[in-house]
Amino acid sequence: MAATLAERFRPVKLAVAVFLAALFEIPVCVPQTVGRDPQEPSAGKRAPNRIAGLAGSIARKHIDERALRETIEELVSCGTRQSLSSWDDPKRGIGCGRDKVLARFRKAAQSSGGRLDVRIDRFEATGPRTRDVAVRLENVLAFLPGTDPVLAKRVFLVSGHYDSMPSSVMDSESDAPGADDDASGVAVAVECARLLAPSTFRATLLFAAVSGEEQGLLGSTHLLAYLKENGYEVGGYLDNDIVGADLAPGGRHRVRVFSGGGPDGVDSPSRDLARAVEEIAGRDAVRLIFRLDRLGRGGDHRPFVEANLPAVRFTEPLEDYAHEHQTPRIEDGRVYGDRIEFLSFPFLGDVARANAETLRQLAQAPAAPVQVEVSGGVTPNAKIGWTAGEDRERAGFEILWRETTDPRWTVYDFATSAGESVLTGVSTDNRFFAVRAVGKNGARSIPVAAQLMPPPPKK
Ligand SMILES: [Zn+2]
Repeated sequence: MAATLAERFRPVKLAVAVFLAALFEIPVCVPQTVGRDPQEPSAGKRAPNRIAGLAGSIARKHIDERALRETIEELVSCGTRQSLSSWDDPKRGIGCGRDKVLARFRKAAQSSGGRLDVRIDRFEATGPRTRDVAVRLENVLAFLPGTDPVLAKRVFLVSGHYDSMPSSVMDSESDAPGADDDASGVAVAVECARLLAPSTFRATLLFAAVSGEEQGLLGSTHLLAYLKENGYEVGGYLDNDIVGADLAPGGRHRVRVFSGGGPDGVDSPSRDLARAVEEIAGRDAVRLIFRLDRLGRGGDHRPFVEANLPAVRFTEPLEDYAHEHQTPRIEDGRVYGDRIEFLSFPFLGDVARANAETLRQLAQAPAAPVQVEVSGGVTPNAKIGWTAGEDRERAGFEILWRETTDPRWTVYDFATSAGESVLTGVSTDNRFFAVRAVGKNGARSIPVAAQLMPPPPKK
């Protein structure tokens, strides 16, 4: 059938209208091409059965900024804490640093009723930054054993590295105050011990200060092996490294939390620990950065992330490279060196609170579920399956979901027991899914992202 004259000229009329509108800057109403998405599930989403969160919290006023400063001043007083410097001189070198940390942890132990177990783990390690020679290193560890017989083998740890470096990583002679990198992180671990040691927790807490970080992450690599040898499972690791300064105008700013993605670059235990940190500490306290670390830099969390364990790195909002890995000096009027005067104790206090509150909540939670799987592809209903050990203190599980473009989980539903939940009318394809355990006390485990079952075919 031939088009009418009016139909034939319709596109021309629209083009003329748009041209005239553009010429006279008249707004044109263009039909929307983006429609609404189908509702999932088709019958509407029912409200999840929310259990209130864990009671109490560590308030910002509980943080002792003076204690944070004292820890850092004592470490800086050792002159250098380069890992190849003296282990035996009580006044200068890394051995002096070890003694200062040990004294701080022992002080925290006094309020623990003898429960905080402070140890030195002495070992040897080799790497290119030890000239491929085995060198002595020591980690200072303070364990607060969990009260639950099963969860006590699950450890949540916080650490900083107490070694430092001047401009050259092999220079054990020059001053290397390392106030920010990383006496600040050690001070956070010590403050967490001070705050948490008087209380009891279901899982074990470990407050750690490691050495050999600048020599190639030797201390944390050994710590991971030490935990495995002693039968611990890593529930979560908060690495604090360069967390003491907030020099950008307009502060206080949020501390950054770096997390590594899994093989697909999206979900991983590291990423889900980061999400848990943000949910517990608050969005105004931390800024999530979805990458393993800053470009070209490494940190103690790395060996843990590479072992597919939940580990993240806290680092201040914007670094000043004149203050890091620099022998103290003045050059062209500019002050170089990692000095205590550049630190902000109100900011460092915020970081300590975020760490302590995260540890407090995670160490009271049931174990995270395992073997979390999503199936039901090419069907109308997603199926989420998981398993979990016995735990009388567990209320159940939250099934979480999120848009593939959304960084954060939200609660979809609640299940009282492990097994399989059918999400009627929910496509497997449009969202990611996860499950976490919820205690009767309201504490949540880290979410565990659901893996696709059956696994995608290998090409
Ligand atoms: Zn560092």
